[in-house]
Amino acid sequence: MTASKKSADSSKDKQAAAKYYRRVRRKVCAFCVEKIEYIDYKNVSRLRRFITDRGKIIPRRQTGTCALHQRALARAIKRAREMALLPFVAE
Ligand SMILES: [Zn+2]
Repeated sequence: MTASKKSADSSKDKQAAAKYYRRVRRKVCAFCVEKIEYIDYKNVSRLRRFITDRGKIIPRRQTGTCALHQRALARAIKRAREMALLPFVAE
């Protein structure tokens, strides 16, 4: 029983370390870096980096996109979906 408790503690430590690492890492908005003010919905290869393989828009806490560009990105992705360039949902 003590052995199992010990292993649980070490996994918790690992999680804490991963969390700390994630907090330290500074993500910067990909669109600000490239000085893009308008996100083109036709540029599917760029948009694809910001959706999951299921077709969902990745939250900005994961991608590091700034609020302004995340809104523009969401708009572009939704436009691309209407134009059938991106899936609403992938099976
Ligand atoms: Zn930005």
